[in-house]
Amino acid sequence: MKKNRIGATVFFVICSLQISPAQSKPAADLIISNAKVWTGDKSRAAAQAVAIIRDRIVAVGSNADVEAWRGSETHTIDAGGNLLLPGFNDAHVHFVSGGAQLDNVQLNDATRAEEFARRIGKRAKSTPKGEWVLGGDWDETKWTPAQPPTKELIDPLTPDTPVFVSRYAGHMALANSLALGMAGVTAKTPDPPGGTIVRDAQGNPTGALKDAAMDYVYKIVPPLSHEQRLHAVKRALAHAASLGVTSVQDMNPEYADIAVYSELLQSGELTTRIYAAPLITQVDDQAKIGIRHAFGGSFLRIGAVKGYADGSLGSATAYFFQPFNDQPNNHGLLSDEMQPLSLMRDRMMKADAAGLQLCTHAIGDQGISIILELYTEIAKAHGEADRRSRIEHVQHMAAKDFDRFAQLHVIASVQPYHAIDDGRWAEKRVGHDRASRTYAFRTLLDHGVRLALGTDWNVAPLNPLLTVYAAVTRATLDGKNPNGWFPEQKLTVSETVEAYTMGSAYAEFQEKEKGSITPGKLADLVLLSEDIFTIDPTNIREVKVLKTIVGGKVVWDGGVGTSH
Ligand SMILES: [Zn+2]
Repeated sequence: MKKNRIGATVFFVICSLQISPAQSKPAADLIISNAKVWTGDKSRAAAQAVAIIRDRIVAVGSNADVEAWRGSETHTIDAGGNLLLPGFNDAHVHFVSGGAQLDNVQLNDATRAEEFARRIGKRAKSTPKGEWVLGGDWDETKWTPAQPPTKELIDPLTPDTPVFVSRYAGHMALANSLALGMAGVTAKTPDPPGGTIVRDAQGNPTGALKDAAMDYVYKIVPPLSHEQRLHAVKRALAHAASLGVTSVQDMNPEYADIAVYSELLQSGELTTRIYAAPLITQVDDQAKIGIRHAFGGSFLRIGAVKGYADGSLGSATAYFFQPFNDQPNNHGLLSDEMQPLSLMRDRMMKADAAGLQLCTHAIGDQGISIILELYTEIAKAHGEADRRSRIEHVQHMAAKDFDRFAQLHVIASVQPYHAIDDGRWAEKRVGHDRASRTYAFRTLLDHGVRLALGTDWNVAPLNPLLTVYAAVTRATLDGKNPNGWFPEQKLTVSETVEAYTMGSAYAEFQEKEKGSITPGKLADLVLLSEDIFTIDPTNIREVKVLKTIVGGKVVWDGGVGTSH
């Protein structure tokens, strides 16, 4: 406690707060009392109350301890005995796509091809002339029969509206004939490196495009206008606040996205902290300015780059050592950024030399292996440093790579929701042996690998409680593995929450600023309706967010808990 008071005094001097002669220390702006506080701070695991001045936590302790910080202007939130956690920090999102998706046609829960087509047709009718029908996140594995769609399904319903709707993992999309025609994709168009034009028996495009082949169409889709982008970000911020997500790490944003974040920061409307990692193909820009990892302020940082090693398991483009069990001639695809490999190596070397953080999407076991090799080469070339290089997704590990992963201090940025989603069918594609090292969160932790948790929103839902549920139960969405798919890979609730707060904070070089409820740190907190540490884990996904606090301000109020 003594240490806190010293810390608070320093803080007081810095902030030049007014202090009355009768007071021994500055008064709190906000006190949250009667909470079950899980601090995430090993030196003080549990507490009842938190005091906040401006955007920082100044005291954590019993109700009585924290009461000593009360002044005449102090606001109070009575937590009613509910669980208070550090705010969730989602280490991998696509924030603008997520915000835009909230307005796009919703296809993910369609259970039949006809329903998929009907929704697209309906949306096309209400879409102004010249605009596209986009997004969708369809998932043909939920249909009977589970066949990927073709343009014939939607053409009759969309004669005048270009359509390019993406599969939920974002590595495949379906164009209608109008969109394909506008893009000039015909039977004669070659597959680009790192991409596939799906074709029928006669060689004609079916409308489905995989990975780099999607760019044929994406490059003719008009970019979001500034107004559309601003709208998408505002939707995303409100969505994050409602779910207790106080920080996000935004993977491959466009620069125009960062400009919108910056605009909202200036107007005081940025209510989620953002660390943005633009594409590694644009490494020259940040390197030229001399920006290094985690450059910026508490609400907006840049200084990382995001690259792609391979595709996804769902579209059979994740890069494996051995072929897929259900596609004996296919073992996946390296991304176009990896062809040739020297292209990726040069960009990574440049990024590392500039002090930028590397975040690389790698899903298949060989894709992950190659990235670990490149990271090894970088460390050799530039010497040991606190680089916190990351691999995003880390879905399918080769047995030989766990130790190397840990020794290189690479961060595994993982999304447990994918495990309960892909777990429905992954074993058919990769077989039992490889599936046993799929989403192998426990094995990674046991080897000493640091985890950062996230969702990959808009690929998966942003709701952190669904992700906690997924990591703790590994119960696949189809209900077929109620005791967990590869249950030996389950995490405990504490491990999951720690990886989602401290783990993610560490992954963005912010573990001294956030990730635990500790005096001196940013006051980013979430109040939950249930104690997720003690309830039946199957109920975690039903838990509600009562309040979300970012920098000492309530940004979401679920209406429970008294404030005065
Ligand atoms: Zn992603």
